[in-house]
Order: sequence, then C-alpha cells, then structure tokens
Amino acid sequence: MIANRGEVIWQAKAACRGPHAIVFFPPSHPERKDERMARERIAKEICRTCTAMQDCLDYAIRIREANGIWGGLNEAERKQIIDRALPGPRAAASA
Ligand code: SF4
Repeated sequence: MIANRGEVIWQAKAACRGPHAIVFFPPSHPERKDERMARERIAKEICRTCTAMQDCLDYAIRIREANGIWGGLNEAERKQIIDRALPGPRAAASA
C-alpha cells in the first residue's frame, strides 16, 4: 500500500518501529489468553509513549485494520469505536 504524505509523517514518528514491533501482532503459533494479554500490555505501554498515537488510531479505524495493536487499542477495542460511530437502530429511532 502506498501511504499518503500525512501517513508517512506519523509513521516516521512511530514508537513501535524496531525489533519490539513483534509484540503488536499475534504470533504465527497459537497464543494463550494470558500470553496475548501480556503481549498487548507491553504494546500498549509503548503506544502510551508514542507521539503518533492519535494519528495511528485514526488510520487504523479508517482502514478498518483487523489485526494488532494500533493507537493503543486492540482489534476488539477499535471495533467498539467503529460500532458506536455507525448509525444503528438507536440513531434511527431518535431521528
Ligand atoms: S500508537 Fe502504538 S501502534 Fe501506533 S505508531 Fe505509536 S507505538 Fe505504533
């Protein structure tokens, strides 16, 4: 994928660049729940130090990134944001 200029700028500031990037995505082998939680905790701690956190989260939500920690949130946490933003029965009922 070719990133636009704005994405190149925030990605260049990403705190997850380098060898520790491995904790941001599930391993290729099965991962126990406690292992996943420990891995995600490490990744989220790195995100909290990242100056690109909001841009990263906005990007992951915009492209509906299905895997990994982006902007300090995992897949399920991002899906909650997306679901809340989508028009649904509550929005239609109040219209
Ligand atoms: S917020 Fe987290 S995943 Fe996003 S660029 Fe920063 S360190 Fe990487």
